[in-house]
Amino acid sequence: MSTTSSPVTSTFEIRRSDAPVPVATRAEAMAAPKFGTVFTDHMARVSWSQADGWHDRRVEKYGPLLLDPATAVLHYAQEIFEGLKAYRHADGSVWTFRPSANAARFARSAHRLALPELSEADFLGAITALVATDVDWVPSGDETSLYLRPFMYGSERFLGVRPSLEAEFLVIASPVGPYFTHGVQPVSIWVAQDYHRVGAGGTGAAKCGGNYAASLLPQQEAYGHGCEQVCFLDAATNAVLEELGGMNVFIVHADGSVSTPELTGSILEGVTRSSVIRLLTDAGHEMSERRITLAELRAGLTDGSVTEVFACGTAAVITPIGRLAGEGFDMTVADGAAGDVTMRVRAELTDIQYGRATDRRGWLHRLV
Ligand SMILES: *Cc1c(COP(=O)(O)O)cnc(C)c1O
Repeated sequence: MSTTSSPVTSTFEIRRSDAPVPVATRAEAMAAPKFGTVFTDHMARVSWSQADGWHDRRVEKYGPLLLDPATAVLHYAQEIFEGLKAYRHADGSVWTFRPSANAARFARSAHRLALPELSEADFLGAITALVATDVDWVPSGDETSLYLRPFMYGSERFLGVRPSLEAEFLVIASPVGPYFTHGVQPVSIWVAQDYHRVGAGGTGAAKCGGNYAASLLPQQEAYGHGCEQVCFLDAATNAVLEELGGMNVFIVHADGSVSTPELTGSILEGVTRSSVIRLLTDAGHEMSERRITLAELRAGLTDGSVTEVFACGTAAVITPIGRLAGEGFDMTVADGAAGDVTMRVRAELTDIQYGRATDRRGWLHRLV
């Protein structure tokens, strides 16, 4: 289906687990997995040292890591990660979506966190070898997938403050059910005005665990206000929309145009975000990446010129936003239900990912 030529992938040594999960137990675990709680039998792994570079590419038994208490990552959070999915198509084949974009982002994140860059060949090789080994863990139900979590951390045993001279790259995999079990439900958003995710020159454009650690307290504040997710404003002016804790945000206007916050260096460049921009553009929507203030959004919700708001990211794909609240305001987005543009682009994207629509843009990459 894919029209682009396959990128080069490294070869991994497969060291099979001596104790895989029994078939019946696996079937039970995969029946209705809660996100990120069930893991497959194996993990892919590559080690790095300054002296030897990347070495020992292998797939091995999934299991705990043995870390010295002085391991660098535990003290200074030198860690990055990625998130992508493997989708099973109706004919049984297994595909992933734009993995080269994740590989490129992983290399950019590594650079920002002073970790060694991993080649695209190693990134794709790890995913390919792991999914091939654990292919029985790729679910086949509607909107199910195998979530892939590549990550890297500074593994040197050393408390001094400087980049680690050793690192580990791993990929673990987790079968996931549909994000929405009772049809797509709009979520409510709390706009944080006392906390920021990152500042100018910070790590906002890198996918690193530290950004998430900083988002947890404002996320708790959102729960406290009866909201499910938090939206951050820029640190410099506290007025410009950035993104949610782990999703990018889009605004649909009454005239059919769509806007999303521009990439400033403090926003994570989502693969879903760039795919949505392309799909909406191809569908004839006027699409702009620009500075959007909270005041503009609130005024648009009040006068009806903003008709839909949605968030997007790999885990939840596209999530309609039905309510927007913050200090001194609490507003419904249109009638609070999922909008047409939101649901259409969601269907278009998932149809490509699950092989129900032709992949005209060469976004799919076959794994098995
Ligand atoms: C991963 C992530 C996203 C979404 O990126 P996708 O590539 O679409 O999954 C958005 N914001 C943040 C902060 C993220 O970490």
